[in-house]
Amino acid sequence: MSGVTFNRNRVKLKKLLGVRARLALLAVMLVAPLMLDRVRTLEDFRAKQVAQAAEEYANLTHHAAETQREVISSVETMLKSAAYIRASGGIARSCEVLRASLPTNLPWIRSIMFVSKDGLVQCSNLNFQVGLKLGDRDYFKKAQESGGFVFSDYLFGKTNGRPMMMAAYPVSAINPDQDAVVVAGMNIDWLSQIMANLGGRPGMSALLVDSTGVVIAAPADHASLVGRSLDTVPLMSAIAEKALSYDEPAGSVSFTASDGAQRTLSFARIAGTESRLIVSMDEAKVTAAINREIRTAYLQLGFVCLFVLLGALVGAEKLIIHPIELMTGMARRFGEGDASARVAKHKLPSEFIPLARAFNAMAAQLSQRERELLASNDRLTVMASIDALSGLANRRGFQSRLDFEWLKAQQYDCTLSLLMIDVDHFKLYNDTYGHPEGDTCLTRIGETLSGIAADTLGFAGRYGGEEFCLLLPNTDAAHALAIGETVRTAVLGLGVPHTTSSHSVVTVSVGVATTTPNDTQRPGDLIEAADAALYAAKHRGRNAVVEHGFLQRLDEAGMALAS
Ligand code: GH3
Ligand code: MG
Ligand code: MG
Repeated sequence: MSGVTFNRNRVKLKKLLGVRARLALLAVMLVAPLMLDRVRTLEDFRAKQVAQAAEEYANLTHHAAETQREVISSVETMLKSAAYIRASGGIARSCEVLRASLPTNLPWIRSIMFVSKDGLVQCSNLNFQVGLKLGDRDYFKKAQESGGFVFSDYLFGKTNGRPMMMAAYPVSAINPDQDAVVVAGMNIDWLSQIMANLGGRPGMSALLVDSTGVVIAAPADHASLVGRSLDTVPLMSAIAEKALSYDEPAGSVSFTASDGAQRTLSFARIAGTESRLIVSMDEAKVTAAINREIRTAYLQLGFVCLFVLLGALVGAEKLIIHPIELMTGMARRFGEGDASARVAKHKLPSEFIPLARAFNAMAAQLSQRERELLASNDRLTVMASIDALSGLANRRGFQSRLDFEWLKAQQYDCTLSLLMIDVDHFKLYNDTYGHPEGDTCLTRIGETLSGIAADTLGFAGRYGGEEFCLLLPNTDAAHALAIGETVRTAVLGLGVPHTTSSHSVVTVSVGVATTTPNDTQRPGDLIEAADAALYAAKHRGRNAVVEHGFLQRLDEAGMALAS
């Protein structure tokens, strides 16, 4: 039982490892290194893309911070030059010079004013600001205290309610005798516009925050955050906390945000201010695009592999399996005896044509051999029933002819006669003339009988030794007796000398038997009867013809009752 299972498994395994499977395996083996290389390239590409994105964001942060710093520094420069103007003249003259010299290429400076020691706006490029009191403002106090450039946090204009930032520079920094302060109002929209190139990128948020974490500027996609404290914005508080807690002028930190996303934070402090530029990057979102690209590439790779596999299978089916099946079918037909079975070469791929040609040549050769074999078989059959010495049918040939004629006579209800012919004293002949001469004598008698058979439409044979027979279909007893007489006289007429015979020449004795075959008789009965008549002829003194009444019984002495 286990042997059967084992064999079945082997058959299954063989099927599994058939040509198709092997070709598919070969295709995979060919494609696999390319696939692996492609996968490696893609993974490298992914790593490079991520690194490049991180670097790009860090550069952007740096660049944006630089730009913001330039803006601030342009404000500082402007304030300083205004302070010089104020230091060098009285308020009226200074105001005139200030208004005239306010450059138009610094659109982020909304207003610039001279403020007295106690905070009264003495002069401004915007007339409505003259007379305003800024003495209670932190930046104003700070500028007076520090004696240097001060940049405010995010403010709402008390007069117009608009978001703004203020910068202040005490004139005392240039001329200690002067106590006025130069103050500039900053257009915050401009700061946001500078950050435009940081917006619109997936997974990235860029914000400029003041020292308290209030958003001063943001790209258009985060414009709603301007003026809001990061603490009030979901997911941003952690970012603000990280960015504000770092004292370094620039840096980056990676952490897991409260939503579970891995974030990288780049921040840069804007020189001369308390504000910081924060660029936060959600790694998953940034890599999402790259991952999408990689996924598409993997899909393409999968399709290519599938295509190659299918190609290999279809190719194997068409180029190998089908031709093999075609040739197997032909070989089977040929094996089943269809000698005309040939492989149609035009249906095969060129590689199979030599094989088909060889198969067809082999089939043609085998057919030819079979034909030759049949012919030689026929010849052998004929040879097996011919006696070489006399040229007549041998006993076997005679027997089969007797069977045939017997059936024929039985079918047509005809008479059938048989002559048994024996050479008289042939032993003596051999003794006298030698065996070869005896053979020659037998050959001559055979030729004589052959002639008589042709004349009488009979069938002559050599029954054995020096005994011949002549089968005479459709011949009655009288006619057979006459033919027996013809045989006897013909041999006598040959005049072959036989000195040791009482007749001096070679003679034959002939036994004749005739019957009309029926179911109660057998061919052997006819032979026996003719033999008995021959026996009687010998007893009559040889060189005689005796007829046997076939249905008559032999007498006690075995002598035929001659009719
Ligand atoms: P009978 O008249 O009674 O027939 O006497 P017989 O001598 O012919 O008969 P017997 O049976 O005594 O001898 C037959 C001889 O025929 C003996 C054998 O040597 C000879 N003989 C048989 N076949 C051949 C043959 O093929 N060639 C030759 N040369 N002799 C043969
Ligand atoms: Mg004999
Ligand atoms: Mg004899």
